[in-house]
Amino acid sequence: MRFDVDLFVIGGGSGGVRAARMAAATGAKVALAEDSRLGGTCVIRGCVPKKLMVFASSFREMPAEARAYGWDIPDGAFDWSQFRSKLHAELDRLEGVYRRLLEGSGVQIHDARARLADAHSVQLSTGQTVTAKHILIATGGRPERPDLPNSNIGLVSDDIFLLDSLPKSILIVGGGFIACEMACILAGLGVKVTQVYRGAQILRGFDDEARGLIAEAMKAQGIDLHLGTNIVEMAEAAAIRRGEGTMGASASAAVDLLRQSGALGCPVWVKATNGLEQTFDTVLFATGRKPNADGLGLEDIGITLGRRGEIPVDDYSQTAVPSVYAIGDVTNRWNLTPVAIREGMAFVRTVFEGVPTPVDHELIPSAVFTQPELGTVGLTEEAARAQEPIEVYCTSFRPMRGAFAGNEARVLMKLIVSQTSRRVLGCHIVAPEAGEMIQLAAIAVKMGATKEDFDRTVAVHPTMAEELVTMRTPTRKA
Ligand code: NDP
Repeated sequence: MRFDVDLFVIGGGSGGVRAARMAAATGAKVALAEDSRLGGTCVIRGCVPKKLMVFASSFREMPAEARAYGWDIPDGAFDWSQFRSKLHAELDRLEGVYRRLLEGSGVQIHDARARLADAHSVQLSTGQTVTAKHILIATGGRPERPDLPNSNIGLVSDDIFLLDSLPKSILIVGGGFIACEMACILAGLGVKVTQVYRGAQILRGFDDEARGLIAEAMKAQGIDLHLGTNIVEMAEAAAIRRGEGTMGASASAAVDLLRQSGALGCPVWVKATNGLEQTFDTVLFATGRKPNADGLGLEDIGITLGRRGEIPVDDYSQTAVPSVYAIGDVTNRWNLTPVAIREGMAFVRTVFEGVPTPVDHELIPSAVFTQPELGTVGLTEEAARAQEPIEVYCTSFRPMRGAFAGNEARVLMKLIVSQTSRRVLGCHIVAPEAGEMIQLAAIAVKMGATKEDFDRTVAVHPTMAEELVTMRTPTRKA
């Protein structure tokens, strides 16, 4: 059977774009559909704008630190609208780069919504149908609000980058990556941040000692963090003042319209499980993300979604329908940009280069861009202890730069070592620029470095990271 194209990619985010370009480079005829903006979550409403906001917020501490070092610098004010304009100009530029890269690779771009008509056909919102030998779904995910009356009046992370002005106060719900990063960013930009998390400690799944230090640092930054707490009721504050209790359907629809127009953030009255009752300028739900797998026609062609709404795939990213593959957040494996890119590359190698390549999901490093950052690779102390006998090497100290300026903030360097193989099973760093440090430490850990390999590496002095190669005595054994 002849097909219009060899590959049709649905979704123009990091994973889809990389797979499309790489497949086209093998000589394949490739088309890609995106119904929003090329670049996807990472470029348009995730990693990139978030990191630029991390940079923007990090300047808040600098005048005080500079003064401690002898500079005559006054505190300044942050101008959100100036930053926002530059931010969006940068995102427009990056979107253009993505488009040109695809065009330059010979990929046909369809600015349209796509759904599968059958195992080899994609139907576009333009009315066109394209047949394809292979179909790759890379539609990502979207933020999910909790199932709570009026939760639609709260913002989600996508909305933050579109705000006309910064709120004076915000309640952030959640204790994961996005909640903690946004809490630090917004506090750094001068917003009064309250955060509620239902669990005993933020950043579930990360090393306990690292989580504790980040939580302390966030509180020291002025974030009002309530653990073991969730919200039970919320309503538009004006509706409460009018004595309506909760919002009616028309008010709720008005909020949706505001969201679409970019004018967001009505004052919200909130009641929490710890008795807190307060009005905030706005509420941000950072309560997880959901795979974008609905409306694609998958059930009709024999693909049953998983429990979290994800597309189930095998080690080669192949679905239950042999011609259809899926990569990235829509498969809900490791929801990280570089992993989606890897999955896209492994797909092309398998399908277009004839080398069956399973995706390697072992020892994926990651960073949480809180202030300070958390960089991590491998097992936490808790997980390693459950697996085998270990030694823990850990140090926490005030780094030279901050200590000189009278800053109490501490950093953490931690290695988890197998007692039997001597391999470093996990490395956890809490420090400014921990994301940069963990990238390099992760190479050694991925190569199977032992504690003795770390020990025979000469320290780079004076740095924070030198502690990783100078810790001689285990803090504890377990
Ligand atoms: P996470 O899964 O990391 O965190 C969700 C948080 O919301 C958890 O604290 C969870 O609590 C809480 N939660 C979930 N449901 C409810 C509810 N009904 N009521 C109250 N709290 C609730 O999701 P994020 O949205 O923060 O991030 C999504 C993913 O995006 C991350 O897992 C990560 O893969 C990726 N990401 C990566 C970044 C990076 O690499 N730096 C940055 C941002 C995102 P509990 O722990 O109890 O389940």
